[in-house]
Amino acid sequence: MSKSRSNTEDVVTSTSTTTPREHIRNFARSTSIVFFGDKAGAGGQKMTVEDVLSNFHVRQYCPWEIVPEGGSRFRAYIQSDHTPAAERMMLGLFTSREHAQSACAQQSPVVWLDEKLDENRRCKLCQAGFALLRRVHHCRNCGACVCAECSSVSWPSRMVPPTYVHVGEKRVRVCDACHFFFERFRKSLLEGNIDEVVATYSTGNCNLVCPFALYEGNHFPLHAAAQGGSLDVVKFLVEVELVPLYFVRGGETVPYTTSSGMAVLALAAREKAMDIVRYLVTERRVQMDQVQDVKDLQDMCSWLLREV
Ligand SMILES: [Zn+2]
Ligand SMILES: [Zn+2]
Repeated sequence: MSKSRSNTEDVVTSTSTTTPREHIRNFARSTSIVFFGDKAGAGGQKMTVEDVLSNFHVRQYCPWEIVPEGGSRFRAYIQSDHTPAAERMMLGLFTSREHAQSACAQQSPVVWLDEKLDENRRCKLCQAGFALLRRVHHCRNCGACVCAECSSVSWPSRMVPPTYVHVGEKRVRVCDACHFFFERFRKSLLEGNIDEVVATYSTGNCNLVCPFALYEGNHFPLHAAAQGGSLDVVKFLVEVELVPLYFVRGGETVPYTTSSGMAVLALAAREKAMDIVRYLVTERRVQMDQVQDVKDLQDMCSWLLREV
C-alpha cells in the first residue's frame, strides 16, 4: 500500500491491502462518541467522529528531489512552501534512496490548501461557510482550511516537523481530525497494537520523528513503541518506515531521548521488553551503554548472556 503523496515514487509502507479511506471508516464505526460538539454551521447538530472523519484531509507534501551521488549516496532536497522564494533546501546526505525518501516524507513541508480556490469556501471538517465572523485557519499538520471550532486544539510546535511552522512559533493550531489521529496513534503505540498502529499511520497525517510533546515525558513514537512492548511495532517503525534511532547534533551522532534522557534501548530494558532489547542490540547494533540505570543494565546483560 502506498500513501497519498504528491511525489510519484512512493515508499511502500505495509503489506496491508486496506486503503486509508477504509481505515478511516473503520475508526469512525468503532467509536460512537460525539466529541466535536455543536456546530452552528452544520445546522446546529452534534457532529459525530464519522461526520468529521468523512471530510478528513490527507496531507500532501511540497515536491522533493533525490539526487544520486557517487559511492551509493543520495542527496535529498526539499522545497519550502512558506517562503516567498519557495527555496530549495538541502535536507541531507543518505546511504540509500529509501532512507532519503523516508526523510523527505517525514520532513517535507505540507501544502496549505488555498481556500480561495474552493468555490464554496467552507470548513473542510464541518462544512460551515467562511464569513467575516467565521475566519479561515490552516491546520499546521495537514494544511486544510478549517474554522476555529474545528481547530480548537493547539500543539507545542515540536509536535510537527520544523519545516511545517513559521520561525518562532511556540504552538500551532491543528484540526480536530489530525488531533483525533494523533491520540489514536499514540494510544496504539503504547498498547503495542500493530494492526491499529499500521492503520492509523496509513491515514497519512501522523508524524514519526516528532515527540508527543502534549504529554509528560516527550516520548518520540519509537519510545512509545518500546514502552508498548511489541517487537512488531518497533520493527514496523524501524524497518518499514525507516525511523532513525539517532540524529546528528553538532557533528555528533546521538540517540533520540525522552525528556528524562532515556534512549529507546533504556526504555525497553526498563520495561523488561527483552525481545525488543535483543533486536536493538543484536540486529540494530545499538550500544548497551545507552542504558544508564545500573540495575536495568545488569538485568539486561544477565538476560542476554543466558540466551547465548
Ligand atoms: Zn468547522
Ligand atoms: Zn489537520
